[in-house]
Amino acid sequence: MICMTLTTPSLLMMTSTVARLRRTPNDGDAADYEFIDNDSDDSDDRISHRSQKNYTVLNEADIHLRQEDNMKKISSILSISNVAAALLLRHYNWSVSKVNDEWFANEEKVRRIVGLLEEPRGLPSGKELTCGICFEVFPCDNMSSAACGHPFCVTCWQGYIGTAINDGPGCLMLRCPDPSCSVSVKI
Ligand SMILES: [Zn+2]
Ligand SMILES: [Zn+2]
Repeated sequence: MICMTLTTPSLLMMTSTVARLRRTPNDGDAADYEFIDNDSDDSDDRISHRSQKNYTVLNEADIHLRQEDNMKKISSILSISNVAAALLLRHYNWSVSKVNDEWFANEEKVRRIVGLLEEPRGLPSGKELTCGICFEVFPCDNMSSAACGHPFCVTCWQGYIGTAINDGPGCLMLRCPDPSCSVSVKI
């Protein structure tokens, strides 16, 4: 009798990966079974797809070469410096096509997101400047700024960058220490 055969646990286990058996009430004492396509139970299929995906393992030198190559491409296409190209590529996960797409769709927006000014500003004029972190006054030569021109003394820059490096990879997307400014710091 078919109904009796299908209730054996071993057969249920064998069929569970391709279809699920569902017991449905019947008028009589005998149970009835039907096969249900089970689209959601495809975990085995997903695993087999994953295992078939091809990967290329790159060593550090290969990665460096590819990064240099991508930076040159972006720098040349967008007419920007290598440092700015690296900044964009880091933000867009080193995808040349993504950088191109986003840049040409809305350059101004991309510049704002990554903190890249179109026209870098220098330090404010004056023989002496006040550091925006320690508020001490220093000769101009002892001050430095990102492209935004906000002046900070060498010691404060060292502290700011050193802390960021110790905090992890976020230092690669470092912004100006001025709280009101989001211009990127190229280190
Ligand atoms: Zn300072
Ligand atoms: Zn700034």
